[in-house]
Amino acid sequence: MDYISEKQFQCQKHPQDQLFFIQIDNIQNNQQKSLFYCVQSQEDDSDYKISNFILINTIIKKGTYQIIPKWPPVQDNSVLKGLRQQINQSQGES
Ligand SMILES: [Zn+2]
Repeated sequence: MDYISEKQFQCQKHPQDQLFFIQIDNIQNNQQKSLFYCVQSQEDDSDYKISNFILINTIIKKGTYQIIPKWPPVQDNSVLKGLRQQINQSQGES
């Protein structure tokens, strides 16, 4: 049933394309836009900014053992900063 799990990563607007990005910024202001972008969605969006997106692969590969700077999408950056500091302290030097 690998097919089904792969299917979940297909773009709804472009079913032939795989999703690569998740939108992490201006989510409330862009409710008409998809949270998930394939490469074609990215090209279609004239407002596209790389800083507003994170690679899905990054979350899957790195999410289990380190904090990704842009994920989870939180308004208050100090929350993530504090969290990172705490982890760095408990790990000693990295
Ligand atoms: Zn798309």
